[in-house]
Amino acid sequence: MSLAGKHAIVTGGSRGIGLAVAQRLAQEGARVSIVSRSTPQRVTLSPSTSLRTGSVEGSFHATADVCNESEIRAAFQACRDANGPIDILVNNAGIVESSTLGRTSLEMWDRIIATNLTGTFLCTREVFAEMTAAKWGRIVNVASTAGLVGAPYISAYCASKHGVVGFTRAVAAEAAGTGVTVNAVCPGYTETDILRNAVANITAKTGRDEEETRRLLAASNPQGRIATVEEVAEAVLILVNGSQTGEAMIVPIGEALY
Ligand code: NDP
Repeated sequence: MSLAGKHAIVTGGSRGIGLAVAQRLAQEGARVSIVSRSTPQRVTLSPSTSLRTGSVEGSFHATADVCNESEIRAAFQACRDANGPIDILVNNAGIVESSTLGRTSLEMWDRIIATNLTGTFLCTREVFAEMTAAKWGRIVNVASTAGLVGAPYISAYCASKHGVVGFTRAVAAEAAGTGVTVNAVCPGYTETDILRNAVANITAKTGRDEEETRRLLAASNPQGRIATVEEVAEAVLILVNGSQTGEAMIVPIGEALY
């Protein structure tokens, strides 16, 4: 299915997974709007160029913090003004911080829940009525394998991503029969700044070398290797093109967690 004529918003599309998703949707013909706190670097990417930093050619960018209700309202309106009614929303903006439970401050907990879970709620609520009125819409939430199983030292992140998966299922149920589908993708560790920071943290704290740390993180992924941003983008595209709803798709596709 071509996405020509469709308007897609990708939150956190300035780098990493969000940028790869934004570029994949643009390749399929969608008009893309990116919402993030900082402006993406204005570099033009050819298909062979690294997807990890840069901007999507022809895309519109609106600056907003996904935790901020009024900023999201204004940013989404700016996206509509630039690219028309919103057909596709990818809730990708997210942060991760790790800590033992005892050292998890309330501020850290609130920051992670606000960005990953409340941000997903605010952005979804912003588009839900227009999508159901149009009788077509696609919402894809970037959760994580940490939204499906527990892992040590990331209790706030795990709780936020379990919340995203639960929210996905609830809104999918509410949207049933309207033409709007709501799904989640659940990547394991994926090659982005988040992973690079995790590796740096672990090597600093444990004295392990980088290669061993990467091997350990890869081993905790269901597929036993680090995922690529392109694989996550492909999974998002499958959910945008399909009619399934309420799913939490593990990435790389076809891998099981248990
Ligand atoms: P990056 O740190 O590379 O990118 C995060 C993006 O989110 C940036 O564009 C950032 O832009 C944006 N962002 C962060 N906070 C906010 C905010 N408050 N408001 C608006 N935008 C925000 O991360 P990844 O690409 O690795 O992660 C993307 C998503 O994928 C996240 O939800 C993450 O939890 C999830 N994920 C990542 C995995 C990994 O191993 N990399 C594995 C599983 C899931 P800016 O800073 O300019 O606002």
